[in-house]
Amino acid sequence: MPSMLDAVVVGAGPNGLTAAVELARRGCSVAVFEAKSTVGGGARTEELTLPGFRHDPCSAVHPLGVGSPAFKDLPLERYGLEWLHARLPMAHPWEDGTAAVLARSVSETAASFGPRDAGTYRRLVAPYLGKWDTLARDFMSLPLTALPRDPVTLARFGIGGLQPSTWLLRRFKDDKARALFAGLVGHAIAPLDGLATSAIGLVFALAAHAGGWPLPRGGSQAISDALAAYLKDLGGAVHTDYEVKRLDDLPPARAYVFDTAPSALARIAGFGGLYDGYRHGASVFKIDYALDGPVPWTAEEARHAGTVQIGPGSRDIGLALRQASTGTAPRTPFLITAQPSLVDPGRAPEGRHVFWAYGHVPQRWEGDLTEAMERQIERFAPGFRDRILARAVAGPPELAARNANYVGGDIACGAARGLQLILRPRLTLRPYHTPHPAVFLCSAATPPGPGVHGMSGHNAAKAVWRHLRSTGR
Ligand SMILES: Cc1cc2nc3c(=O)[nH]c(=O)nc-3n(C[C@H](O)[C@H](O)[C@H](O)COP(=O)(O)OP(=O)(O)OC[C@H]3O[C@@H](n4cnc5c(N)ncnc54)[C@H](O)[C@@H]3O)c2cc1C
Repeated sequence: MPSMLDAVVVGAGPNGLTAAVELARRGCSVAVFEAKSTVGGGARTEELTLPGFRHDPCSAVHPLGVGSPAFKDLPLERYGLEWLHARLPMAHPWEDGTAAVLARSVSETAASFGPRDAGTYRRLVAPYLGKWDTLARDFMSLPLTALPRDPVTLARFGIGGLQPSTWLLRRFKDDKARALFAGLVGHAIAPLDGLATSAIGLVFALAAHAGGWPLPRGGSQAISDALAAYLKDLGGAVHTDYEVKRLDDLPPARAYVFDTAPSALARIAGFGGLYDGYRHGASVFKIDYALDGPVPWTAEEARHAGTVQIGPGSRDIGLALRQASTGTAPRTPFLITAQPSLVDPGRAPEGRHVFWAYGHVPQRWEGDLTEAMERQIERFAPGFRDRILARAVAGPPELAARNANYVGGDIACGAARGLQLILRPRLTLRPYHTPHPAVFLCSAATPPGPGVHGMSGHNAAKAVWRHLRSTGR
């Protein structure tokens, strides 16, 4: 290791690893320090239940990963990353055996909503079709780390997207379209009436039509391993089992980049109450299942979808999200589920499956949602319980123990509410900077926020690079 590194990164989540890679690609000497014994943060894969069952404790499905401008610029396929697609990105079943679907094709999606809403959906997404690459680069680079390439489309997206999703839902006449779209907003754990929640739903829908909602072969660990392997080839170092508690724990460097919660950065770097105004949001109750067969969904479409949303209706979803955000565990949780071994049989022994489900609960909630979740799944997949071989259960305390960034179990590293959805962790156009010119933040607490896309790390690396250049590197 040189006596003075160009950059030290704290935390080997997707954003920390992306920031490290971006700097190493520019010729910087970089070392990453990670508290856990393996890299990945929220993009990891483990045998959580039984031998041979490879579960993703956190992220499983990656609409923003496959479409990420940061990842597209990196040769991650050369390091083993392979995206696998289910026939349908997502299905949203109803108890009568029908389902709304989010398909790769706009027509198939629109048709599943029924004749009264098909045209509305087509008109909603039409202005953005074929423009994902530019649009994603533009909105994921906000606030202003790069000039927009297509300001007109970005402005149109911004004006529509800033509306609460409850306004957008009113455009649909039937609940199939409303429920599917409300569920999309739920992926960001945002109450439906929040500012800019229309943008969340639109982003997930457009991502499905542009690049799908794929899963990496072998699990989400494949993303992290590819980033770490590329970093090592570029000369970067990764140190695991190294929890950073003070700046003094780190070697001398020209820049320090934190893939941590803002409160942890403030504690480590001595920034006092700098981020006291930053709010953490609701949590989830997550269950990873080992099953002795596929989930017996009544709706045929759900048997072919990588992700299945269980609402069912938009009112139920809105209520569940509101309750979780205001401190009550929902009696009827809204569930997001993923079926990795449908597309990746190697994730489980032959004929068997891994299955993942979570429902939203209040931050720091200590109850058990297992019964309520399985009751919900049984409504749409009778006989599900009989297929369970083992389950690994994690509520807010267990999630917080798995990853220091999940403060109170908040898996989004910050509430997606109010202006904080867009401007985080403070009201500033320089979110990656801190009061110390050599200390930076790059976690999901910075724009564009949660998800495995590496864009917070990518944007932060640009800020670090400018700092290094200005100090004569
Ligand atoms: C249950 C669940 C399901 C999810 N599903 C999806 C999904 O399907 N698709 C998707 O795109 N996203 C999903 N996410 C969200 C996604 O995992 C996160 O948004 C993403 O991982 C954030 O990346 P990050 O690099 O900012 O932080 P993290 O991935 O959280 O990484 C931070 C790293 O920093 C380390 N660290 C923290 N403090 C210190 C310290 N003091 N010293 C050293 N190391 C430290 C942590 O150990 C961790 O490894 C899910 C998350 C969870 C929990």
